[in-house]
Amino acid sequence: MFLAREGIRSVIVEKQTFPRYHIGESLTGECGRLLRELGLEARMLAMGFPQKRGVKVYGPDGIGSWFVPVKLRDEKGELYDQFTWQVRRSEFDKMLLDEAVARGAALVHGQATKILTNSEGAVSGLVVRLADGDELTVEAEVVLDCSGQATFLAQREMTGPKYLGSYDKQIAIFSQVAHSIRDDGDTADLCRDNTLIFYRSKFHWSWFIPLDKDVVSVGVVAPAAYYLDKKESKQDFLIRELHALNPELKRRLPDIELAEDVHVIPNYSFQVKGFCGKGFMCIGDSHRFVDPIFSFGLYVAMKEAQLAAPVIKGYLQGDGRDLANPFAAHQLTCEKGIDILEDMIDLFWEQPFAFALLVHRKYTEYMVDTFAGRIYDGYASPAIAVFRNMLKRERTYDDVSLYSVPIGSRYNPERAPLWQADSLVEGTEEWIYSG
Ligand SMILES: Cc1cc2nc3c(=O)[nH]c(=O)nc-3n(C[C@H](O)[C@H](O)[C@H](O)COP(=O)(O)OP(=O)(O)OC[C@H]3O[C@@H](n4cnc5c(N)ncnc54)[C@H](O)[C@@H]3O)c2cc1C
Repeated sequence: MFLAREGIRSVIVEKQTFPRYHIGESLTGECGRLLRELGLEARMLAMGFPQKRGVKVYGPDGIGSWFVPVKLRDEKGELYDQFTWQVRRSEFDKMLLDEAVARGAALVHGQATKILTNSEGAVSGLVVRLADGDELTVEAEVVLDCSGQATFLAQREMTGPKYLGSYDKQIAIFSQVAHSIRDDGDTADLCRDNTLIFYRSKFHWSWFIPLDKDVVSVGVVAPAAYYLDKKESKQDFLIRELHALNPELKRRLPDIELAEDVHVIPNYSFQVKGFCGKGFMCIGDSHRFVDPIFSFGLYVAMKEAQLAAPVIKGYLQGDGRDLANPFAAHQLTCEKGIDILEDMIDLFWEQPFAFALLVHRKYTEYMVDTFAGRIYDGYASPAIAVFRNMLKRERTYDDVSLYSVPIGSRYNPERAPLWQADSLVEGTEEWIYSG
């Protein structure tokens, strides 16, 4: 849709038949703004998606909590209350796909299997395997890898190396429940459709995201070693944890009646270096995913798409054709944005009490900005410097060969790039999503 706005013709290659289950259901405030900018507010309202007014984070005792409201900034820079949405991805993704096609994109239902390159080594298209087994060649001036955790271009070594991220030893186990006790008040912090996060201990937490008037998405994230120690099935683990993890979560889920299969995603944290180059760009999860705790994934994917469209238009008109990486500036913009999110999340895990103080005291408004996703477009929140000071971390962007190597809290420079690991083979994504 962003490409269509620039007058660029596009072909979408999608291997799955929509609607299909997907995780990633809570949107940030700025993600809601992007949907409004695309003219989709009326569709979102008509589809009845729950309206999120903020996120509440409960401490381990289930009594203490802090709340960050959804607020946007107007043209004068003043904050105002706004809501964003919680989405059932099967419905939301289908709506987006249908809308993109209605706005002119061609849809090819098939799996991209090979990359085409031209005589200069630039990406020039894809080979797609169609449902009936036939192969289709799609030529393109630019290939955008939006393949999510399948990391299509990185797995085929078109990009730089793929590294493990800071939260690679985590596992997420999730489903949906039919009955729960939700807030019910007039103020933003008591809105029944807010996201709730329950903290148990470092790297161990749970989410509660309303999907309609009855059903709530629930998930437990924990160190993979903790899960393996329990020697339980994923379903038994999830059900037991939902009552053991935090007293407030137990209160809200008196009877756990699952309304969806139990899904698992391990090792979701990674980063691809050199994710833009001649004739290609990676967008969203296809180049980096840090940690799901504050629901930035969909926003980052959509924001990167918005940022990419005018850059691609310039390229099609001749900009940067002679450069080794015509999209280097765009790549740096994306990298700097996610670096901020990584620093924020790292600080939350390393110093949760200090983080809560930032939310409640002097940096309240800036934390509202960061939670909404105001991290691009030269928006320099003073909170970012605070995160880095407290983490004793410096970010430099002078040396392109260095800046995109992960420096998260468990960074280990000795780690081999993921694509050199024997365990990763083509088709990994099937395993990831089926659990
Ligand atoms: C546990 C967990 C919880 C999360 N919670 C949230 C949340 O609350 N809010 C949020 O915003 N984000 C959340 N996320 C992140 C969110 O799921 C992703 O960031 C988001 O879906 C990324 O979008 P994407 O477009 O990059 O990739 P995806 O949404 O994964 O889309 C990739 C698409 O590419 C297709 N594809 C892949 N390979 C090929 C191929 N070879 N050929 C053709 N098609 C292909 C796939 O079928 C898929 O439809 C969470 C993530 C995890 C792991």
